[in-house]
Order: sequence, then structure tokens, then C-alpha cells
Amino acid sequence: MPNWICATCGNHYPDTGDPPASCVICADERQWVPKSGQRWTTHDELAADGRRSEFWEEEPGLIGIGVSPSVGIGQRALLVRTDQGNLLWDPPGFVDDEAIARVREAGGLVAVTASHPHFYGAMAEWAHAFGADVLVPEADRDWVTLPDPAIRTWAGQLAVLPGVTLVQCGGHFPGSAVVHWAAGAGGAGALLTGDTIFVTPGEDRLSFIWSAPNRLPLPEPLIRGILDAVRPFPFDRIYGGWAATIRQGARPKLEASAERYIQFLRGDAPD
Ligand SMILES: [Zn+2]
Ligand SMILES: [Zn+2]
Repeated sequence: MPNWICATCGNHYPDTGDPPASCVICADERQWVPKSGQRWTTHDELAADGRRSEFWEEEPGLIGIGVSPSVGIGQRALLVRTDQGNLLWDPPGFVDDEAIARVREAGGLVAVTASHPHFYGAMAEWAHAFGADVLVPEADRDWVTLPDPAIRTWAGQLAVLPGVTLVQCGGHFPGSAVVHWAAGAGGAGALLTGDTIFVTPGEDRLSFIWSAPNRLPLPEPLIRGILDAVRPFPFDRIYGGWAATIRQGARPKLEASAERYIQFLRGDAPD
């Protein structure tokens, strides 16, 4: 399946003779197109450039997966393991045989999904390797760049596996979601948030954004929508879209960070 892969965002497009004229994900105001113009790549080209998948344990039951050198936006994928099967979250645009073998060793996949369209990447490729479902929020289905029969849509909340729930939060995209993992943080609960809630580099606060590359903030009602969506779930830890993680005290840090952000939106910034 030699799909076209957008070099900037890592999303996959159908195997047409010529690549598409543009990437709809990168042409959107939330993303960006290189000054030199749209650039396409392929799996073979990425592999020839030395890309390899990497794996590490974040905590018991949670495996991190990345690609080095990074591809597209360079997000951290997470594999949530349960005794009923596994969920893959935010997969990068590059998948190699090693990645498939490691996930197979870990028990395979029931479903693959992502926090939002920037990270839909290679979801269909993963689904085909395991006969898994691709879960896409109904609100963002028009952003899917590689239509596939494995796609199932959902809205609001979706219990994917025991103790593993997708929660639609909106914000960055209307269908922006998080995973609530009840067994995370030693049973205190964890959220996997991608771009829906950003963990800052100091791993002591959280933030929100409509467009990260174009520095466009998230309006207050959308921030309050995110807080309302996650409030019913117990959690003490938040895994962001890259390496950063709030290890403990995530709920009060999220509430305090949101109030601080809203102060700035309202013009109450310090001198
Ligand atoms: Zn793109
Ligand atoms: Zn994004």
C-alpha cells in the first residue's frame, strides 16, 4: 500500500499516480505549508532516509512509540494495554515491520484512533495489520485523508475497552478527543491528550491552542468545554502529545492552568 505521505504533517493519502495538488490538513489555518511548497514522500523514501520506530515503557500497561528521525509533527504514540486487547493512540505517519512486530508481541490491536486530524497519520495501515477498527469522531470525519472500510465514527464518549474511554472535548478541532485510562497512574487514572490539552515543557502546567504553528489561541468557551468533558473522570496524570507528561496532581494543575489562560484572554495579563 504505497500511499502518498505529506512530509509536513505525516498524513496518508491514496495511492494515485500523481500526488494530490495539496494536503488539506496543511492548507488549513491550523497547520502550515512550507515556503518552498507542498512536499510529498513515501514509506520507502522515509525508510531509505533511515527512519526507525522506537519503543519504551511509560508505565506498566502503557507503551510509547515514536519514530527517529521524527516524521511530520513528530508526535508520541501510546499503546494502552488491557487484558481484553489494546488501543493505539496518535500513531505517527511511518510504520515499519518492527513496529508491527512489537505491537503484536504486546497483544495486537482492537482499535486505533487519534486525538485529532493532524495525527490521523497511518491509522488505516495499522488497522489493516491487525484487523482493528479505526475510530474517528463524527465531527471530524471530513478531515480523513485516506478513506477506509475499517473506519467507525463516534460522538460524545466511547468505551473502547474496559477502563479505556474516548472523550470528545472539542477545542483544537470540533472532534478533538482524549483517552481516559482508568488503570493509569497506578490506578488513579490518566488522560492521554495529544493536542487537545498541551503539557508544557516544564511538565508543571497545561495549555490550549487552536493553532500551535500560527500561534492562535483557544477561545474561553472552548476551553471550558474541554474542562467540562474531562471533569467526570478520575485522573492524576496527563500524557501530552510529545515527551512531556504531568506525572501527578494533573487535575488541579489543569484547572489552575485553564483559569490562568482565561485571565490572559480577558486582558488581565501582568505587566
Ligand atoms: Zn499535510
Ligand atoms: Zn494539532
